[in-house]
Amino acid sequence: MRITALAGGVGGARFLRGLLAALRSSDDPARREAELTVVVNTADDVTLHGLRISPDLDSVMYTLGGGIDETRGWGRSEETSGVADELARYGRTPTWFTLGDKDIATHLVRTQALAEGRTLSRATEELCRRWAPDARLLPMTDDVVETHVDLAPVPEAERAAHDGEAGGRRVHFQEWWVRLHAAVPALAIEPVGAAAARPAPGVLEALGGADVVVLPPSNPVVSIGSILAVPGIRQALVDTPAPVVGVSPVVGGAPVRGMADACLAAIGVPTTAAAVAGLYADLLDGWLIAEGDEAPAPGPRPLAVRRRPLLMSGPAATAALAGAALDLALELAGERAGEVAPA
Ligand code: GDP
Ligand code: CA
Repeated sequence: MRITALAGGVGGARFLRGLLAALRSSDDPARREAELTVVVNTADDVTLHGLRISPDLDSVMYTLGGGIDETRGWGRSEETSGVADELARYGRTPTWFTLGDKDIATHLVRTQALAEGRTLSRATEELCRRWAPDARLLPMTDDVVETHVDLAPVPEAERAAHDGEAGGRRVHFQEWWVRLHAAVPALAIEPVGAAAARPAPGVLEALGGADVVVLPPSNPVVSIGSILAVPGIRQALVDTPAPVVGVSPVVGGAPVRGMADACLAAIGVPTTAAAVAGLYADLLDGWLIAEGDEAPAPGPRPLAVRRRPLLMSGPAATAALAGAALDLALELAGERAGEVAPA
């Protein structure tokens, strides 16, 4: 069985770890031996202090490879900040982006590979040789895509509460997310470079050749939305013979963790499980929502909706959620096989 997933950082990584746990402990040999390919968002990527940083690739790699800081959900475990402290003493900015010492080693390996002319795909392969994440990690593209955010003007009286920010300018996504905690409203969010980007080698094949495609509960705008903005990827999801099954990142009208509501507001979409499904209406076949949430209105494509516990509160709950997504996908795949089988 070939499973392909799209993913952002923390939400995607946690879900995929649960998916691998569910697969590897299954009684069904097809699930136990399933191959997982993950197409990871790279529009959060940023260059700081000369280092090329791919936060979502690293979150997925560390989480699946056993190196993640479990408390924060991102970055390396048992991390120190010696380099960042020294940079601050040199007066180097920005200081709002956390750069751990161990994490910097990862960024150095990546930055050097790129400087030597290798692609981000190759750099990711090199890093994954160490972490052995039990999945093939593909950046969505080897081209540079960076999400930029247009900040609303901040009234003078409110600036102190927002780190002195006056707004009315365009910043890198990380500055809005990490420095401003997405608390200054965004007027627009744009994955700059996406329109000219090409899917990384293997991405379209992994979508077209999958038996199952999964959308974990990643940020619908700046994670899944950026991946879908790379020309060819959205169409590959529309066209794939595999069922596409997603998990809502929104429960009861709020993102489970983080500030996805600020991203949805910027594109004029309500923070509901139904509205998020609407963003995928052309490609989605199955959708998991929480008990008590409203199902999406019928769209252009038949959609199977199931209510399941959506909180990834621990390893068992996460594996159960991932197992439920897989069950729904295989149920839909079975129905399709029945449709085309000779009478
Ligand atoms: P990021 O790149 O680190 O922001 O991570 P992702 O884009 O992969 O995922 C962020 C999304 O995960 C957020 O919008 C959250 O709503 C969602 N999320 C986090 N924890 C949970 C959970 O336990 N259950 C569900 N359903 N969604 C979650
Ligand atoms: Ca991210």
